[in-house]
Amino acid sequence: APIKMTARDVHVYYGATHAIKGVSIDIDMDHVTAFIGPSGCGKSTFLRTMNRMNDTIAAARVEGQITLDGEDIYAPSMDVVQLRARVGMVFQKPNPFPKSIYENVAYGPRIHGLAASKADMDQIVERSLKRAGLWEEVKDRLTDSGTAMSGGQQQRLCIARAIAVDPEVILMDEPCSALDPIATAKIEELIHELRGNYAIVIVTHNMQQAARVSQRTAFFHLGNLVEYGVTS
Ligand code: ADP
Ligand code: ADP
Repeated sequence: APIKMTARDVHVYYGATHAIKGVSIDIDMDHVTAFIGPSGCGKSTFLRTMNRMNDTIAAARVEGQITLDGEDIYAPSMDVVQLRARVGMVFQKPNPFPKSIYENVAYGPRIHGLAASKADMDQIVERSLKRAGLWEEVKDRLTDSGTAMSGGQQQRLCIARAIAVDPEVILMDEPCSALDPIATAKIEELIHELRGNYAIVIVTHNMQQAARVSQRTAFFHLGNLVEYGVTS
């Protein structure tokens, strides 16, 4: 299967803390990859190096190479705003903007100039909400606040927001750990549906969840990638 992202001998430091110690991995387009391991082993840190989220932490330093479609994402020529659209991120705690449902999804496409008209934008919003499995629930109340929904709906809105800017990769950092079992099941089902259209990486501390949603599992321990292979 085609390789979407690669990491080669990646190290991440927070000041004197050596959080990632020489990780190399290939992220496949066709598979959901789960990052598994005990708290503090570096899963979230490594995920954040994959779209340069850690750039905002002054003390963070990255060594080694990470590529997207063969392009070094830490090269000086890399447009980081563009990168974060291509490699979208969904967080543990759903974090919709305190704006309307419509505006949550339209914001990114507007910044990136993806819609030529209002009709275009309406189409992007509808398509993104459909892909995130949220359209039927919200189509009659797009002007309601994105923060006034259930946690599961908010998380699917955040996924729609990521999808709206046409990402190639979607990174999910424990996307279900703030959700109840029914909302969790919906997100897991959604991950199945999204597979193949996006390279997906999900950080989880839950082995059963990794088994349910992923085809590849990467085990982290003390900043090392200790095992990587087919999910069993
Ligand atoms: P995990 O996601 O597996 O729980 P993290 O990536 O959050 O692990 O943390 C890996 C290591 O990096 C830990 O030692 C943690 O304390 C440290 N760390 C994480 N974030 C920061 C930060 N912003 N500043 C300093 N150290 C951090
Ligand atoms: P405001 O806060 O100014 O009311 P919003 O940011 O909430 O505006 O966006 C509401 C927008 O949602 C409207 O511009 C409207 O065109 C759009 N809209 C309403 N219904 C639909 C629909 N079924 N499909 C796509 N867009 C819609």
